[in-house]
Amino acid sequence: MTSIRIGNGYDIHQLVEGRPLILGGVHIDHSLGLKGHSDADVLTHAIMDALLGALSLGDIGHYFPPTDPQWAGANSLKLLGQVHGLILDRGWRIGNIDSVVVAEQPKLKPHIEAMRDRISQVLNLSPDQIGIKATTNEKLGPVGQEQGICSYAVALLTSNS
Ligand code: MG
Repeated sequence: MTSIRIGNGYDIHQLVEGRPLILGGVHIDHSLGLKGHSDADVLTHAIMDALLGALSLGDIGHYFPPTDPQWAGANSLKLLGQVHGLILDRGWRIGNIDSVVVAEQPKLKPHIEAMRDRISQVLNLSPDQIGIKATTNEKLGPVGQEQGICSYAVALLTSNS
């Protein structure tokens, strides 16, 4: 019998000068970047929280606390690989992931395929199992005022055990 679980994740980081903008493991050329202890890859963080949430394993702050110097500047795709290991160790696999990145600038559409490729490689999935959508916040609120970028993700996990 196949069991299924669903999880959702959310993250937001501030946009600041002097930081790279990394989304889904892709370095995107922009005048501002995301502030954070790690590389502040808000999309990958939301996906990790969705995966952990599906199995009630807590959140990424528990596994990679921002107070721990070993995660300073961490490549979030590597952290995603570790989270994936937790899922596999428990006998679960990913059915699919869907996500949204909300950013007023820059335009993300040209980078979506590269993000899907990076994330699907880390998770050993086909790119068509990774949904990534980009939207703006119609200039409303802090995201709309380009003070930050946020992301939402859901993940479906399956197990045959
Ligand atoms: Mg984060």
